[in-house]
Amino acid sequence: AFRCGYFLQPLSSNIHGCSQNLDRENYTHDYTDIKEVKIMILAQLPRLHLSIFAKSHFSLASSHFNLINPNPPVKLAKTLFSSLATVEPVPLPVSDSSHLEDAPMEIPLDKLFIPPETDISGDDPSRLAARILKGSNIVLSKYARDAQVVQADYVKSSVRTEDCPADGLPEFALVGRSNVGKSSLLNSLVKRKRLALTSKKPGKTQCINHFRINDNWYLVDLPGYGYASAPHELKKDWNKFTKDYFLNRSTLVSVFLLVDASLPAKQIDLDYASWLGQNQVPMTMVFTKCDKRKKKKNGGKKPEENIKEFQDLIQGFFETTPPWIMTSSVTNQGRDEILLHMAQLRNYWLKH
Ligand code: GDP
Repeated sequence: AFRCGYFLQPLSSNIHGCSQNLDRENYTHDYTDIKEVKIMILAQLPRLHLSIFAKSHFSLASSHFNLINPNPPVKLAKTLFSSLATVEPVPLPVSDSSHLEDAPMEIPLDKLFIPPETDISGDDPSRLAARILKGSNIVLSKYARDAQVVQADYVKSSVRTEDCPADGLPEFALVGRSNVGKSSLLNSLVKRKRLALTSKKPGKTQCINHFRINDNWYLVDLPGYGYASAPHELKKDWNKFTKDYFLNRSTLVSVFLLVDASLPAKQIDLDYASWLGQNQVPMTMVFTKCDKRKKKKNGGKKPEENIKEFQDLIQGFFETTPPWIMTSSVTNQGRDEILLHMAQLRNYWLKH
């Protein structure tokens, strides 16, 4: 039941016949609450401005969210993590110096990802802001606990979904275009320099590679797609292979689709995201390489602009905004935030 409607609601019909579940009701309920909160914010605190990190000369909401959505954005506090009352504290990285000059990035309330069973209607704006993960649209729920990685072990490489570990532990699959930074992110999440090298060994690159974390959940490294020199037939196989895993792996809590934020949106990534949406496979978008800024050769676009463009291009495939998060394996931006997000998805999944 969890797979079919936890936190994304594709607009298109579900070709695999999943039915909507009760979680959908929770989510819909929360969405209603958001509107109430918005009204409250407008009525009581019309000039309250909070912020999350973004470059001062770029405001995600003011540049385009407002254009596609007339709802006023909420600005979120820079001190997002100072009062995470509902979560176990997780040490957060000190921001690199480039973040110090950061100014508000605005996200409209209806572009936030609000986990099920999460009621934000009683939150004033500063409390709500404190519940949003830095550099993301993700609201934290009561399920965000036990996020730290204490132990990480390579378990096995499987060539078919049926061969994957059968112990029923929840798992998250990392997938993305070759060179997107998947191995770097995996290593950064588990704080090991070379764990993901296992997935890069010859013979393993086309496998489903399972890493067991803290002996109670899995990170799964899937084959990178879109490698330029891969023969067409091989590329097709990778698709079939990973698609089968996405559709049939019952313990898959969410796919984490990695997208390079230093480049303009690529069609193959858009196709991947829309396929996941159309097939109601829960997805979190992880934008990588967010430390890379102002590259003239990429048209001078900043990560925030590429991220916004990507969101705009896929929004038609989703009824509600999927969770997204900015990361960098160079600065460790987003590392602890991803782990908190995984924790809340996992703990919710375990309880339902
Ligand atoms: P994979 O093919 O998806 O596993 O990608 P890798 O993790 O091997 O990274 C591909 C290249 O991108 C390498 O040269 C990395 O050093 C670089 N890279 C990965 N993550 C980041 C990042 O967050 N920031 C920057 N600037 N470079 C990165």
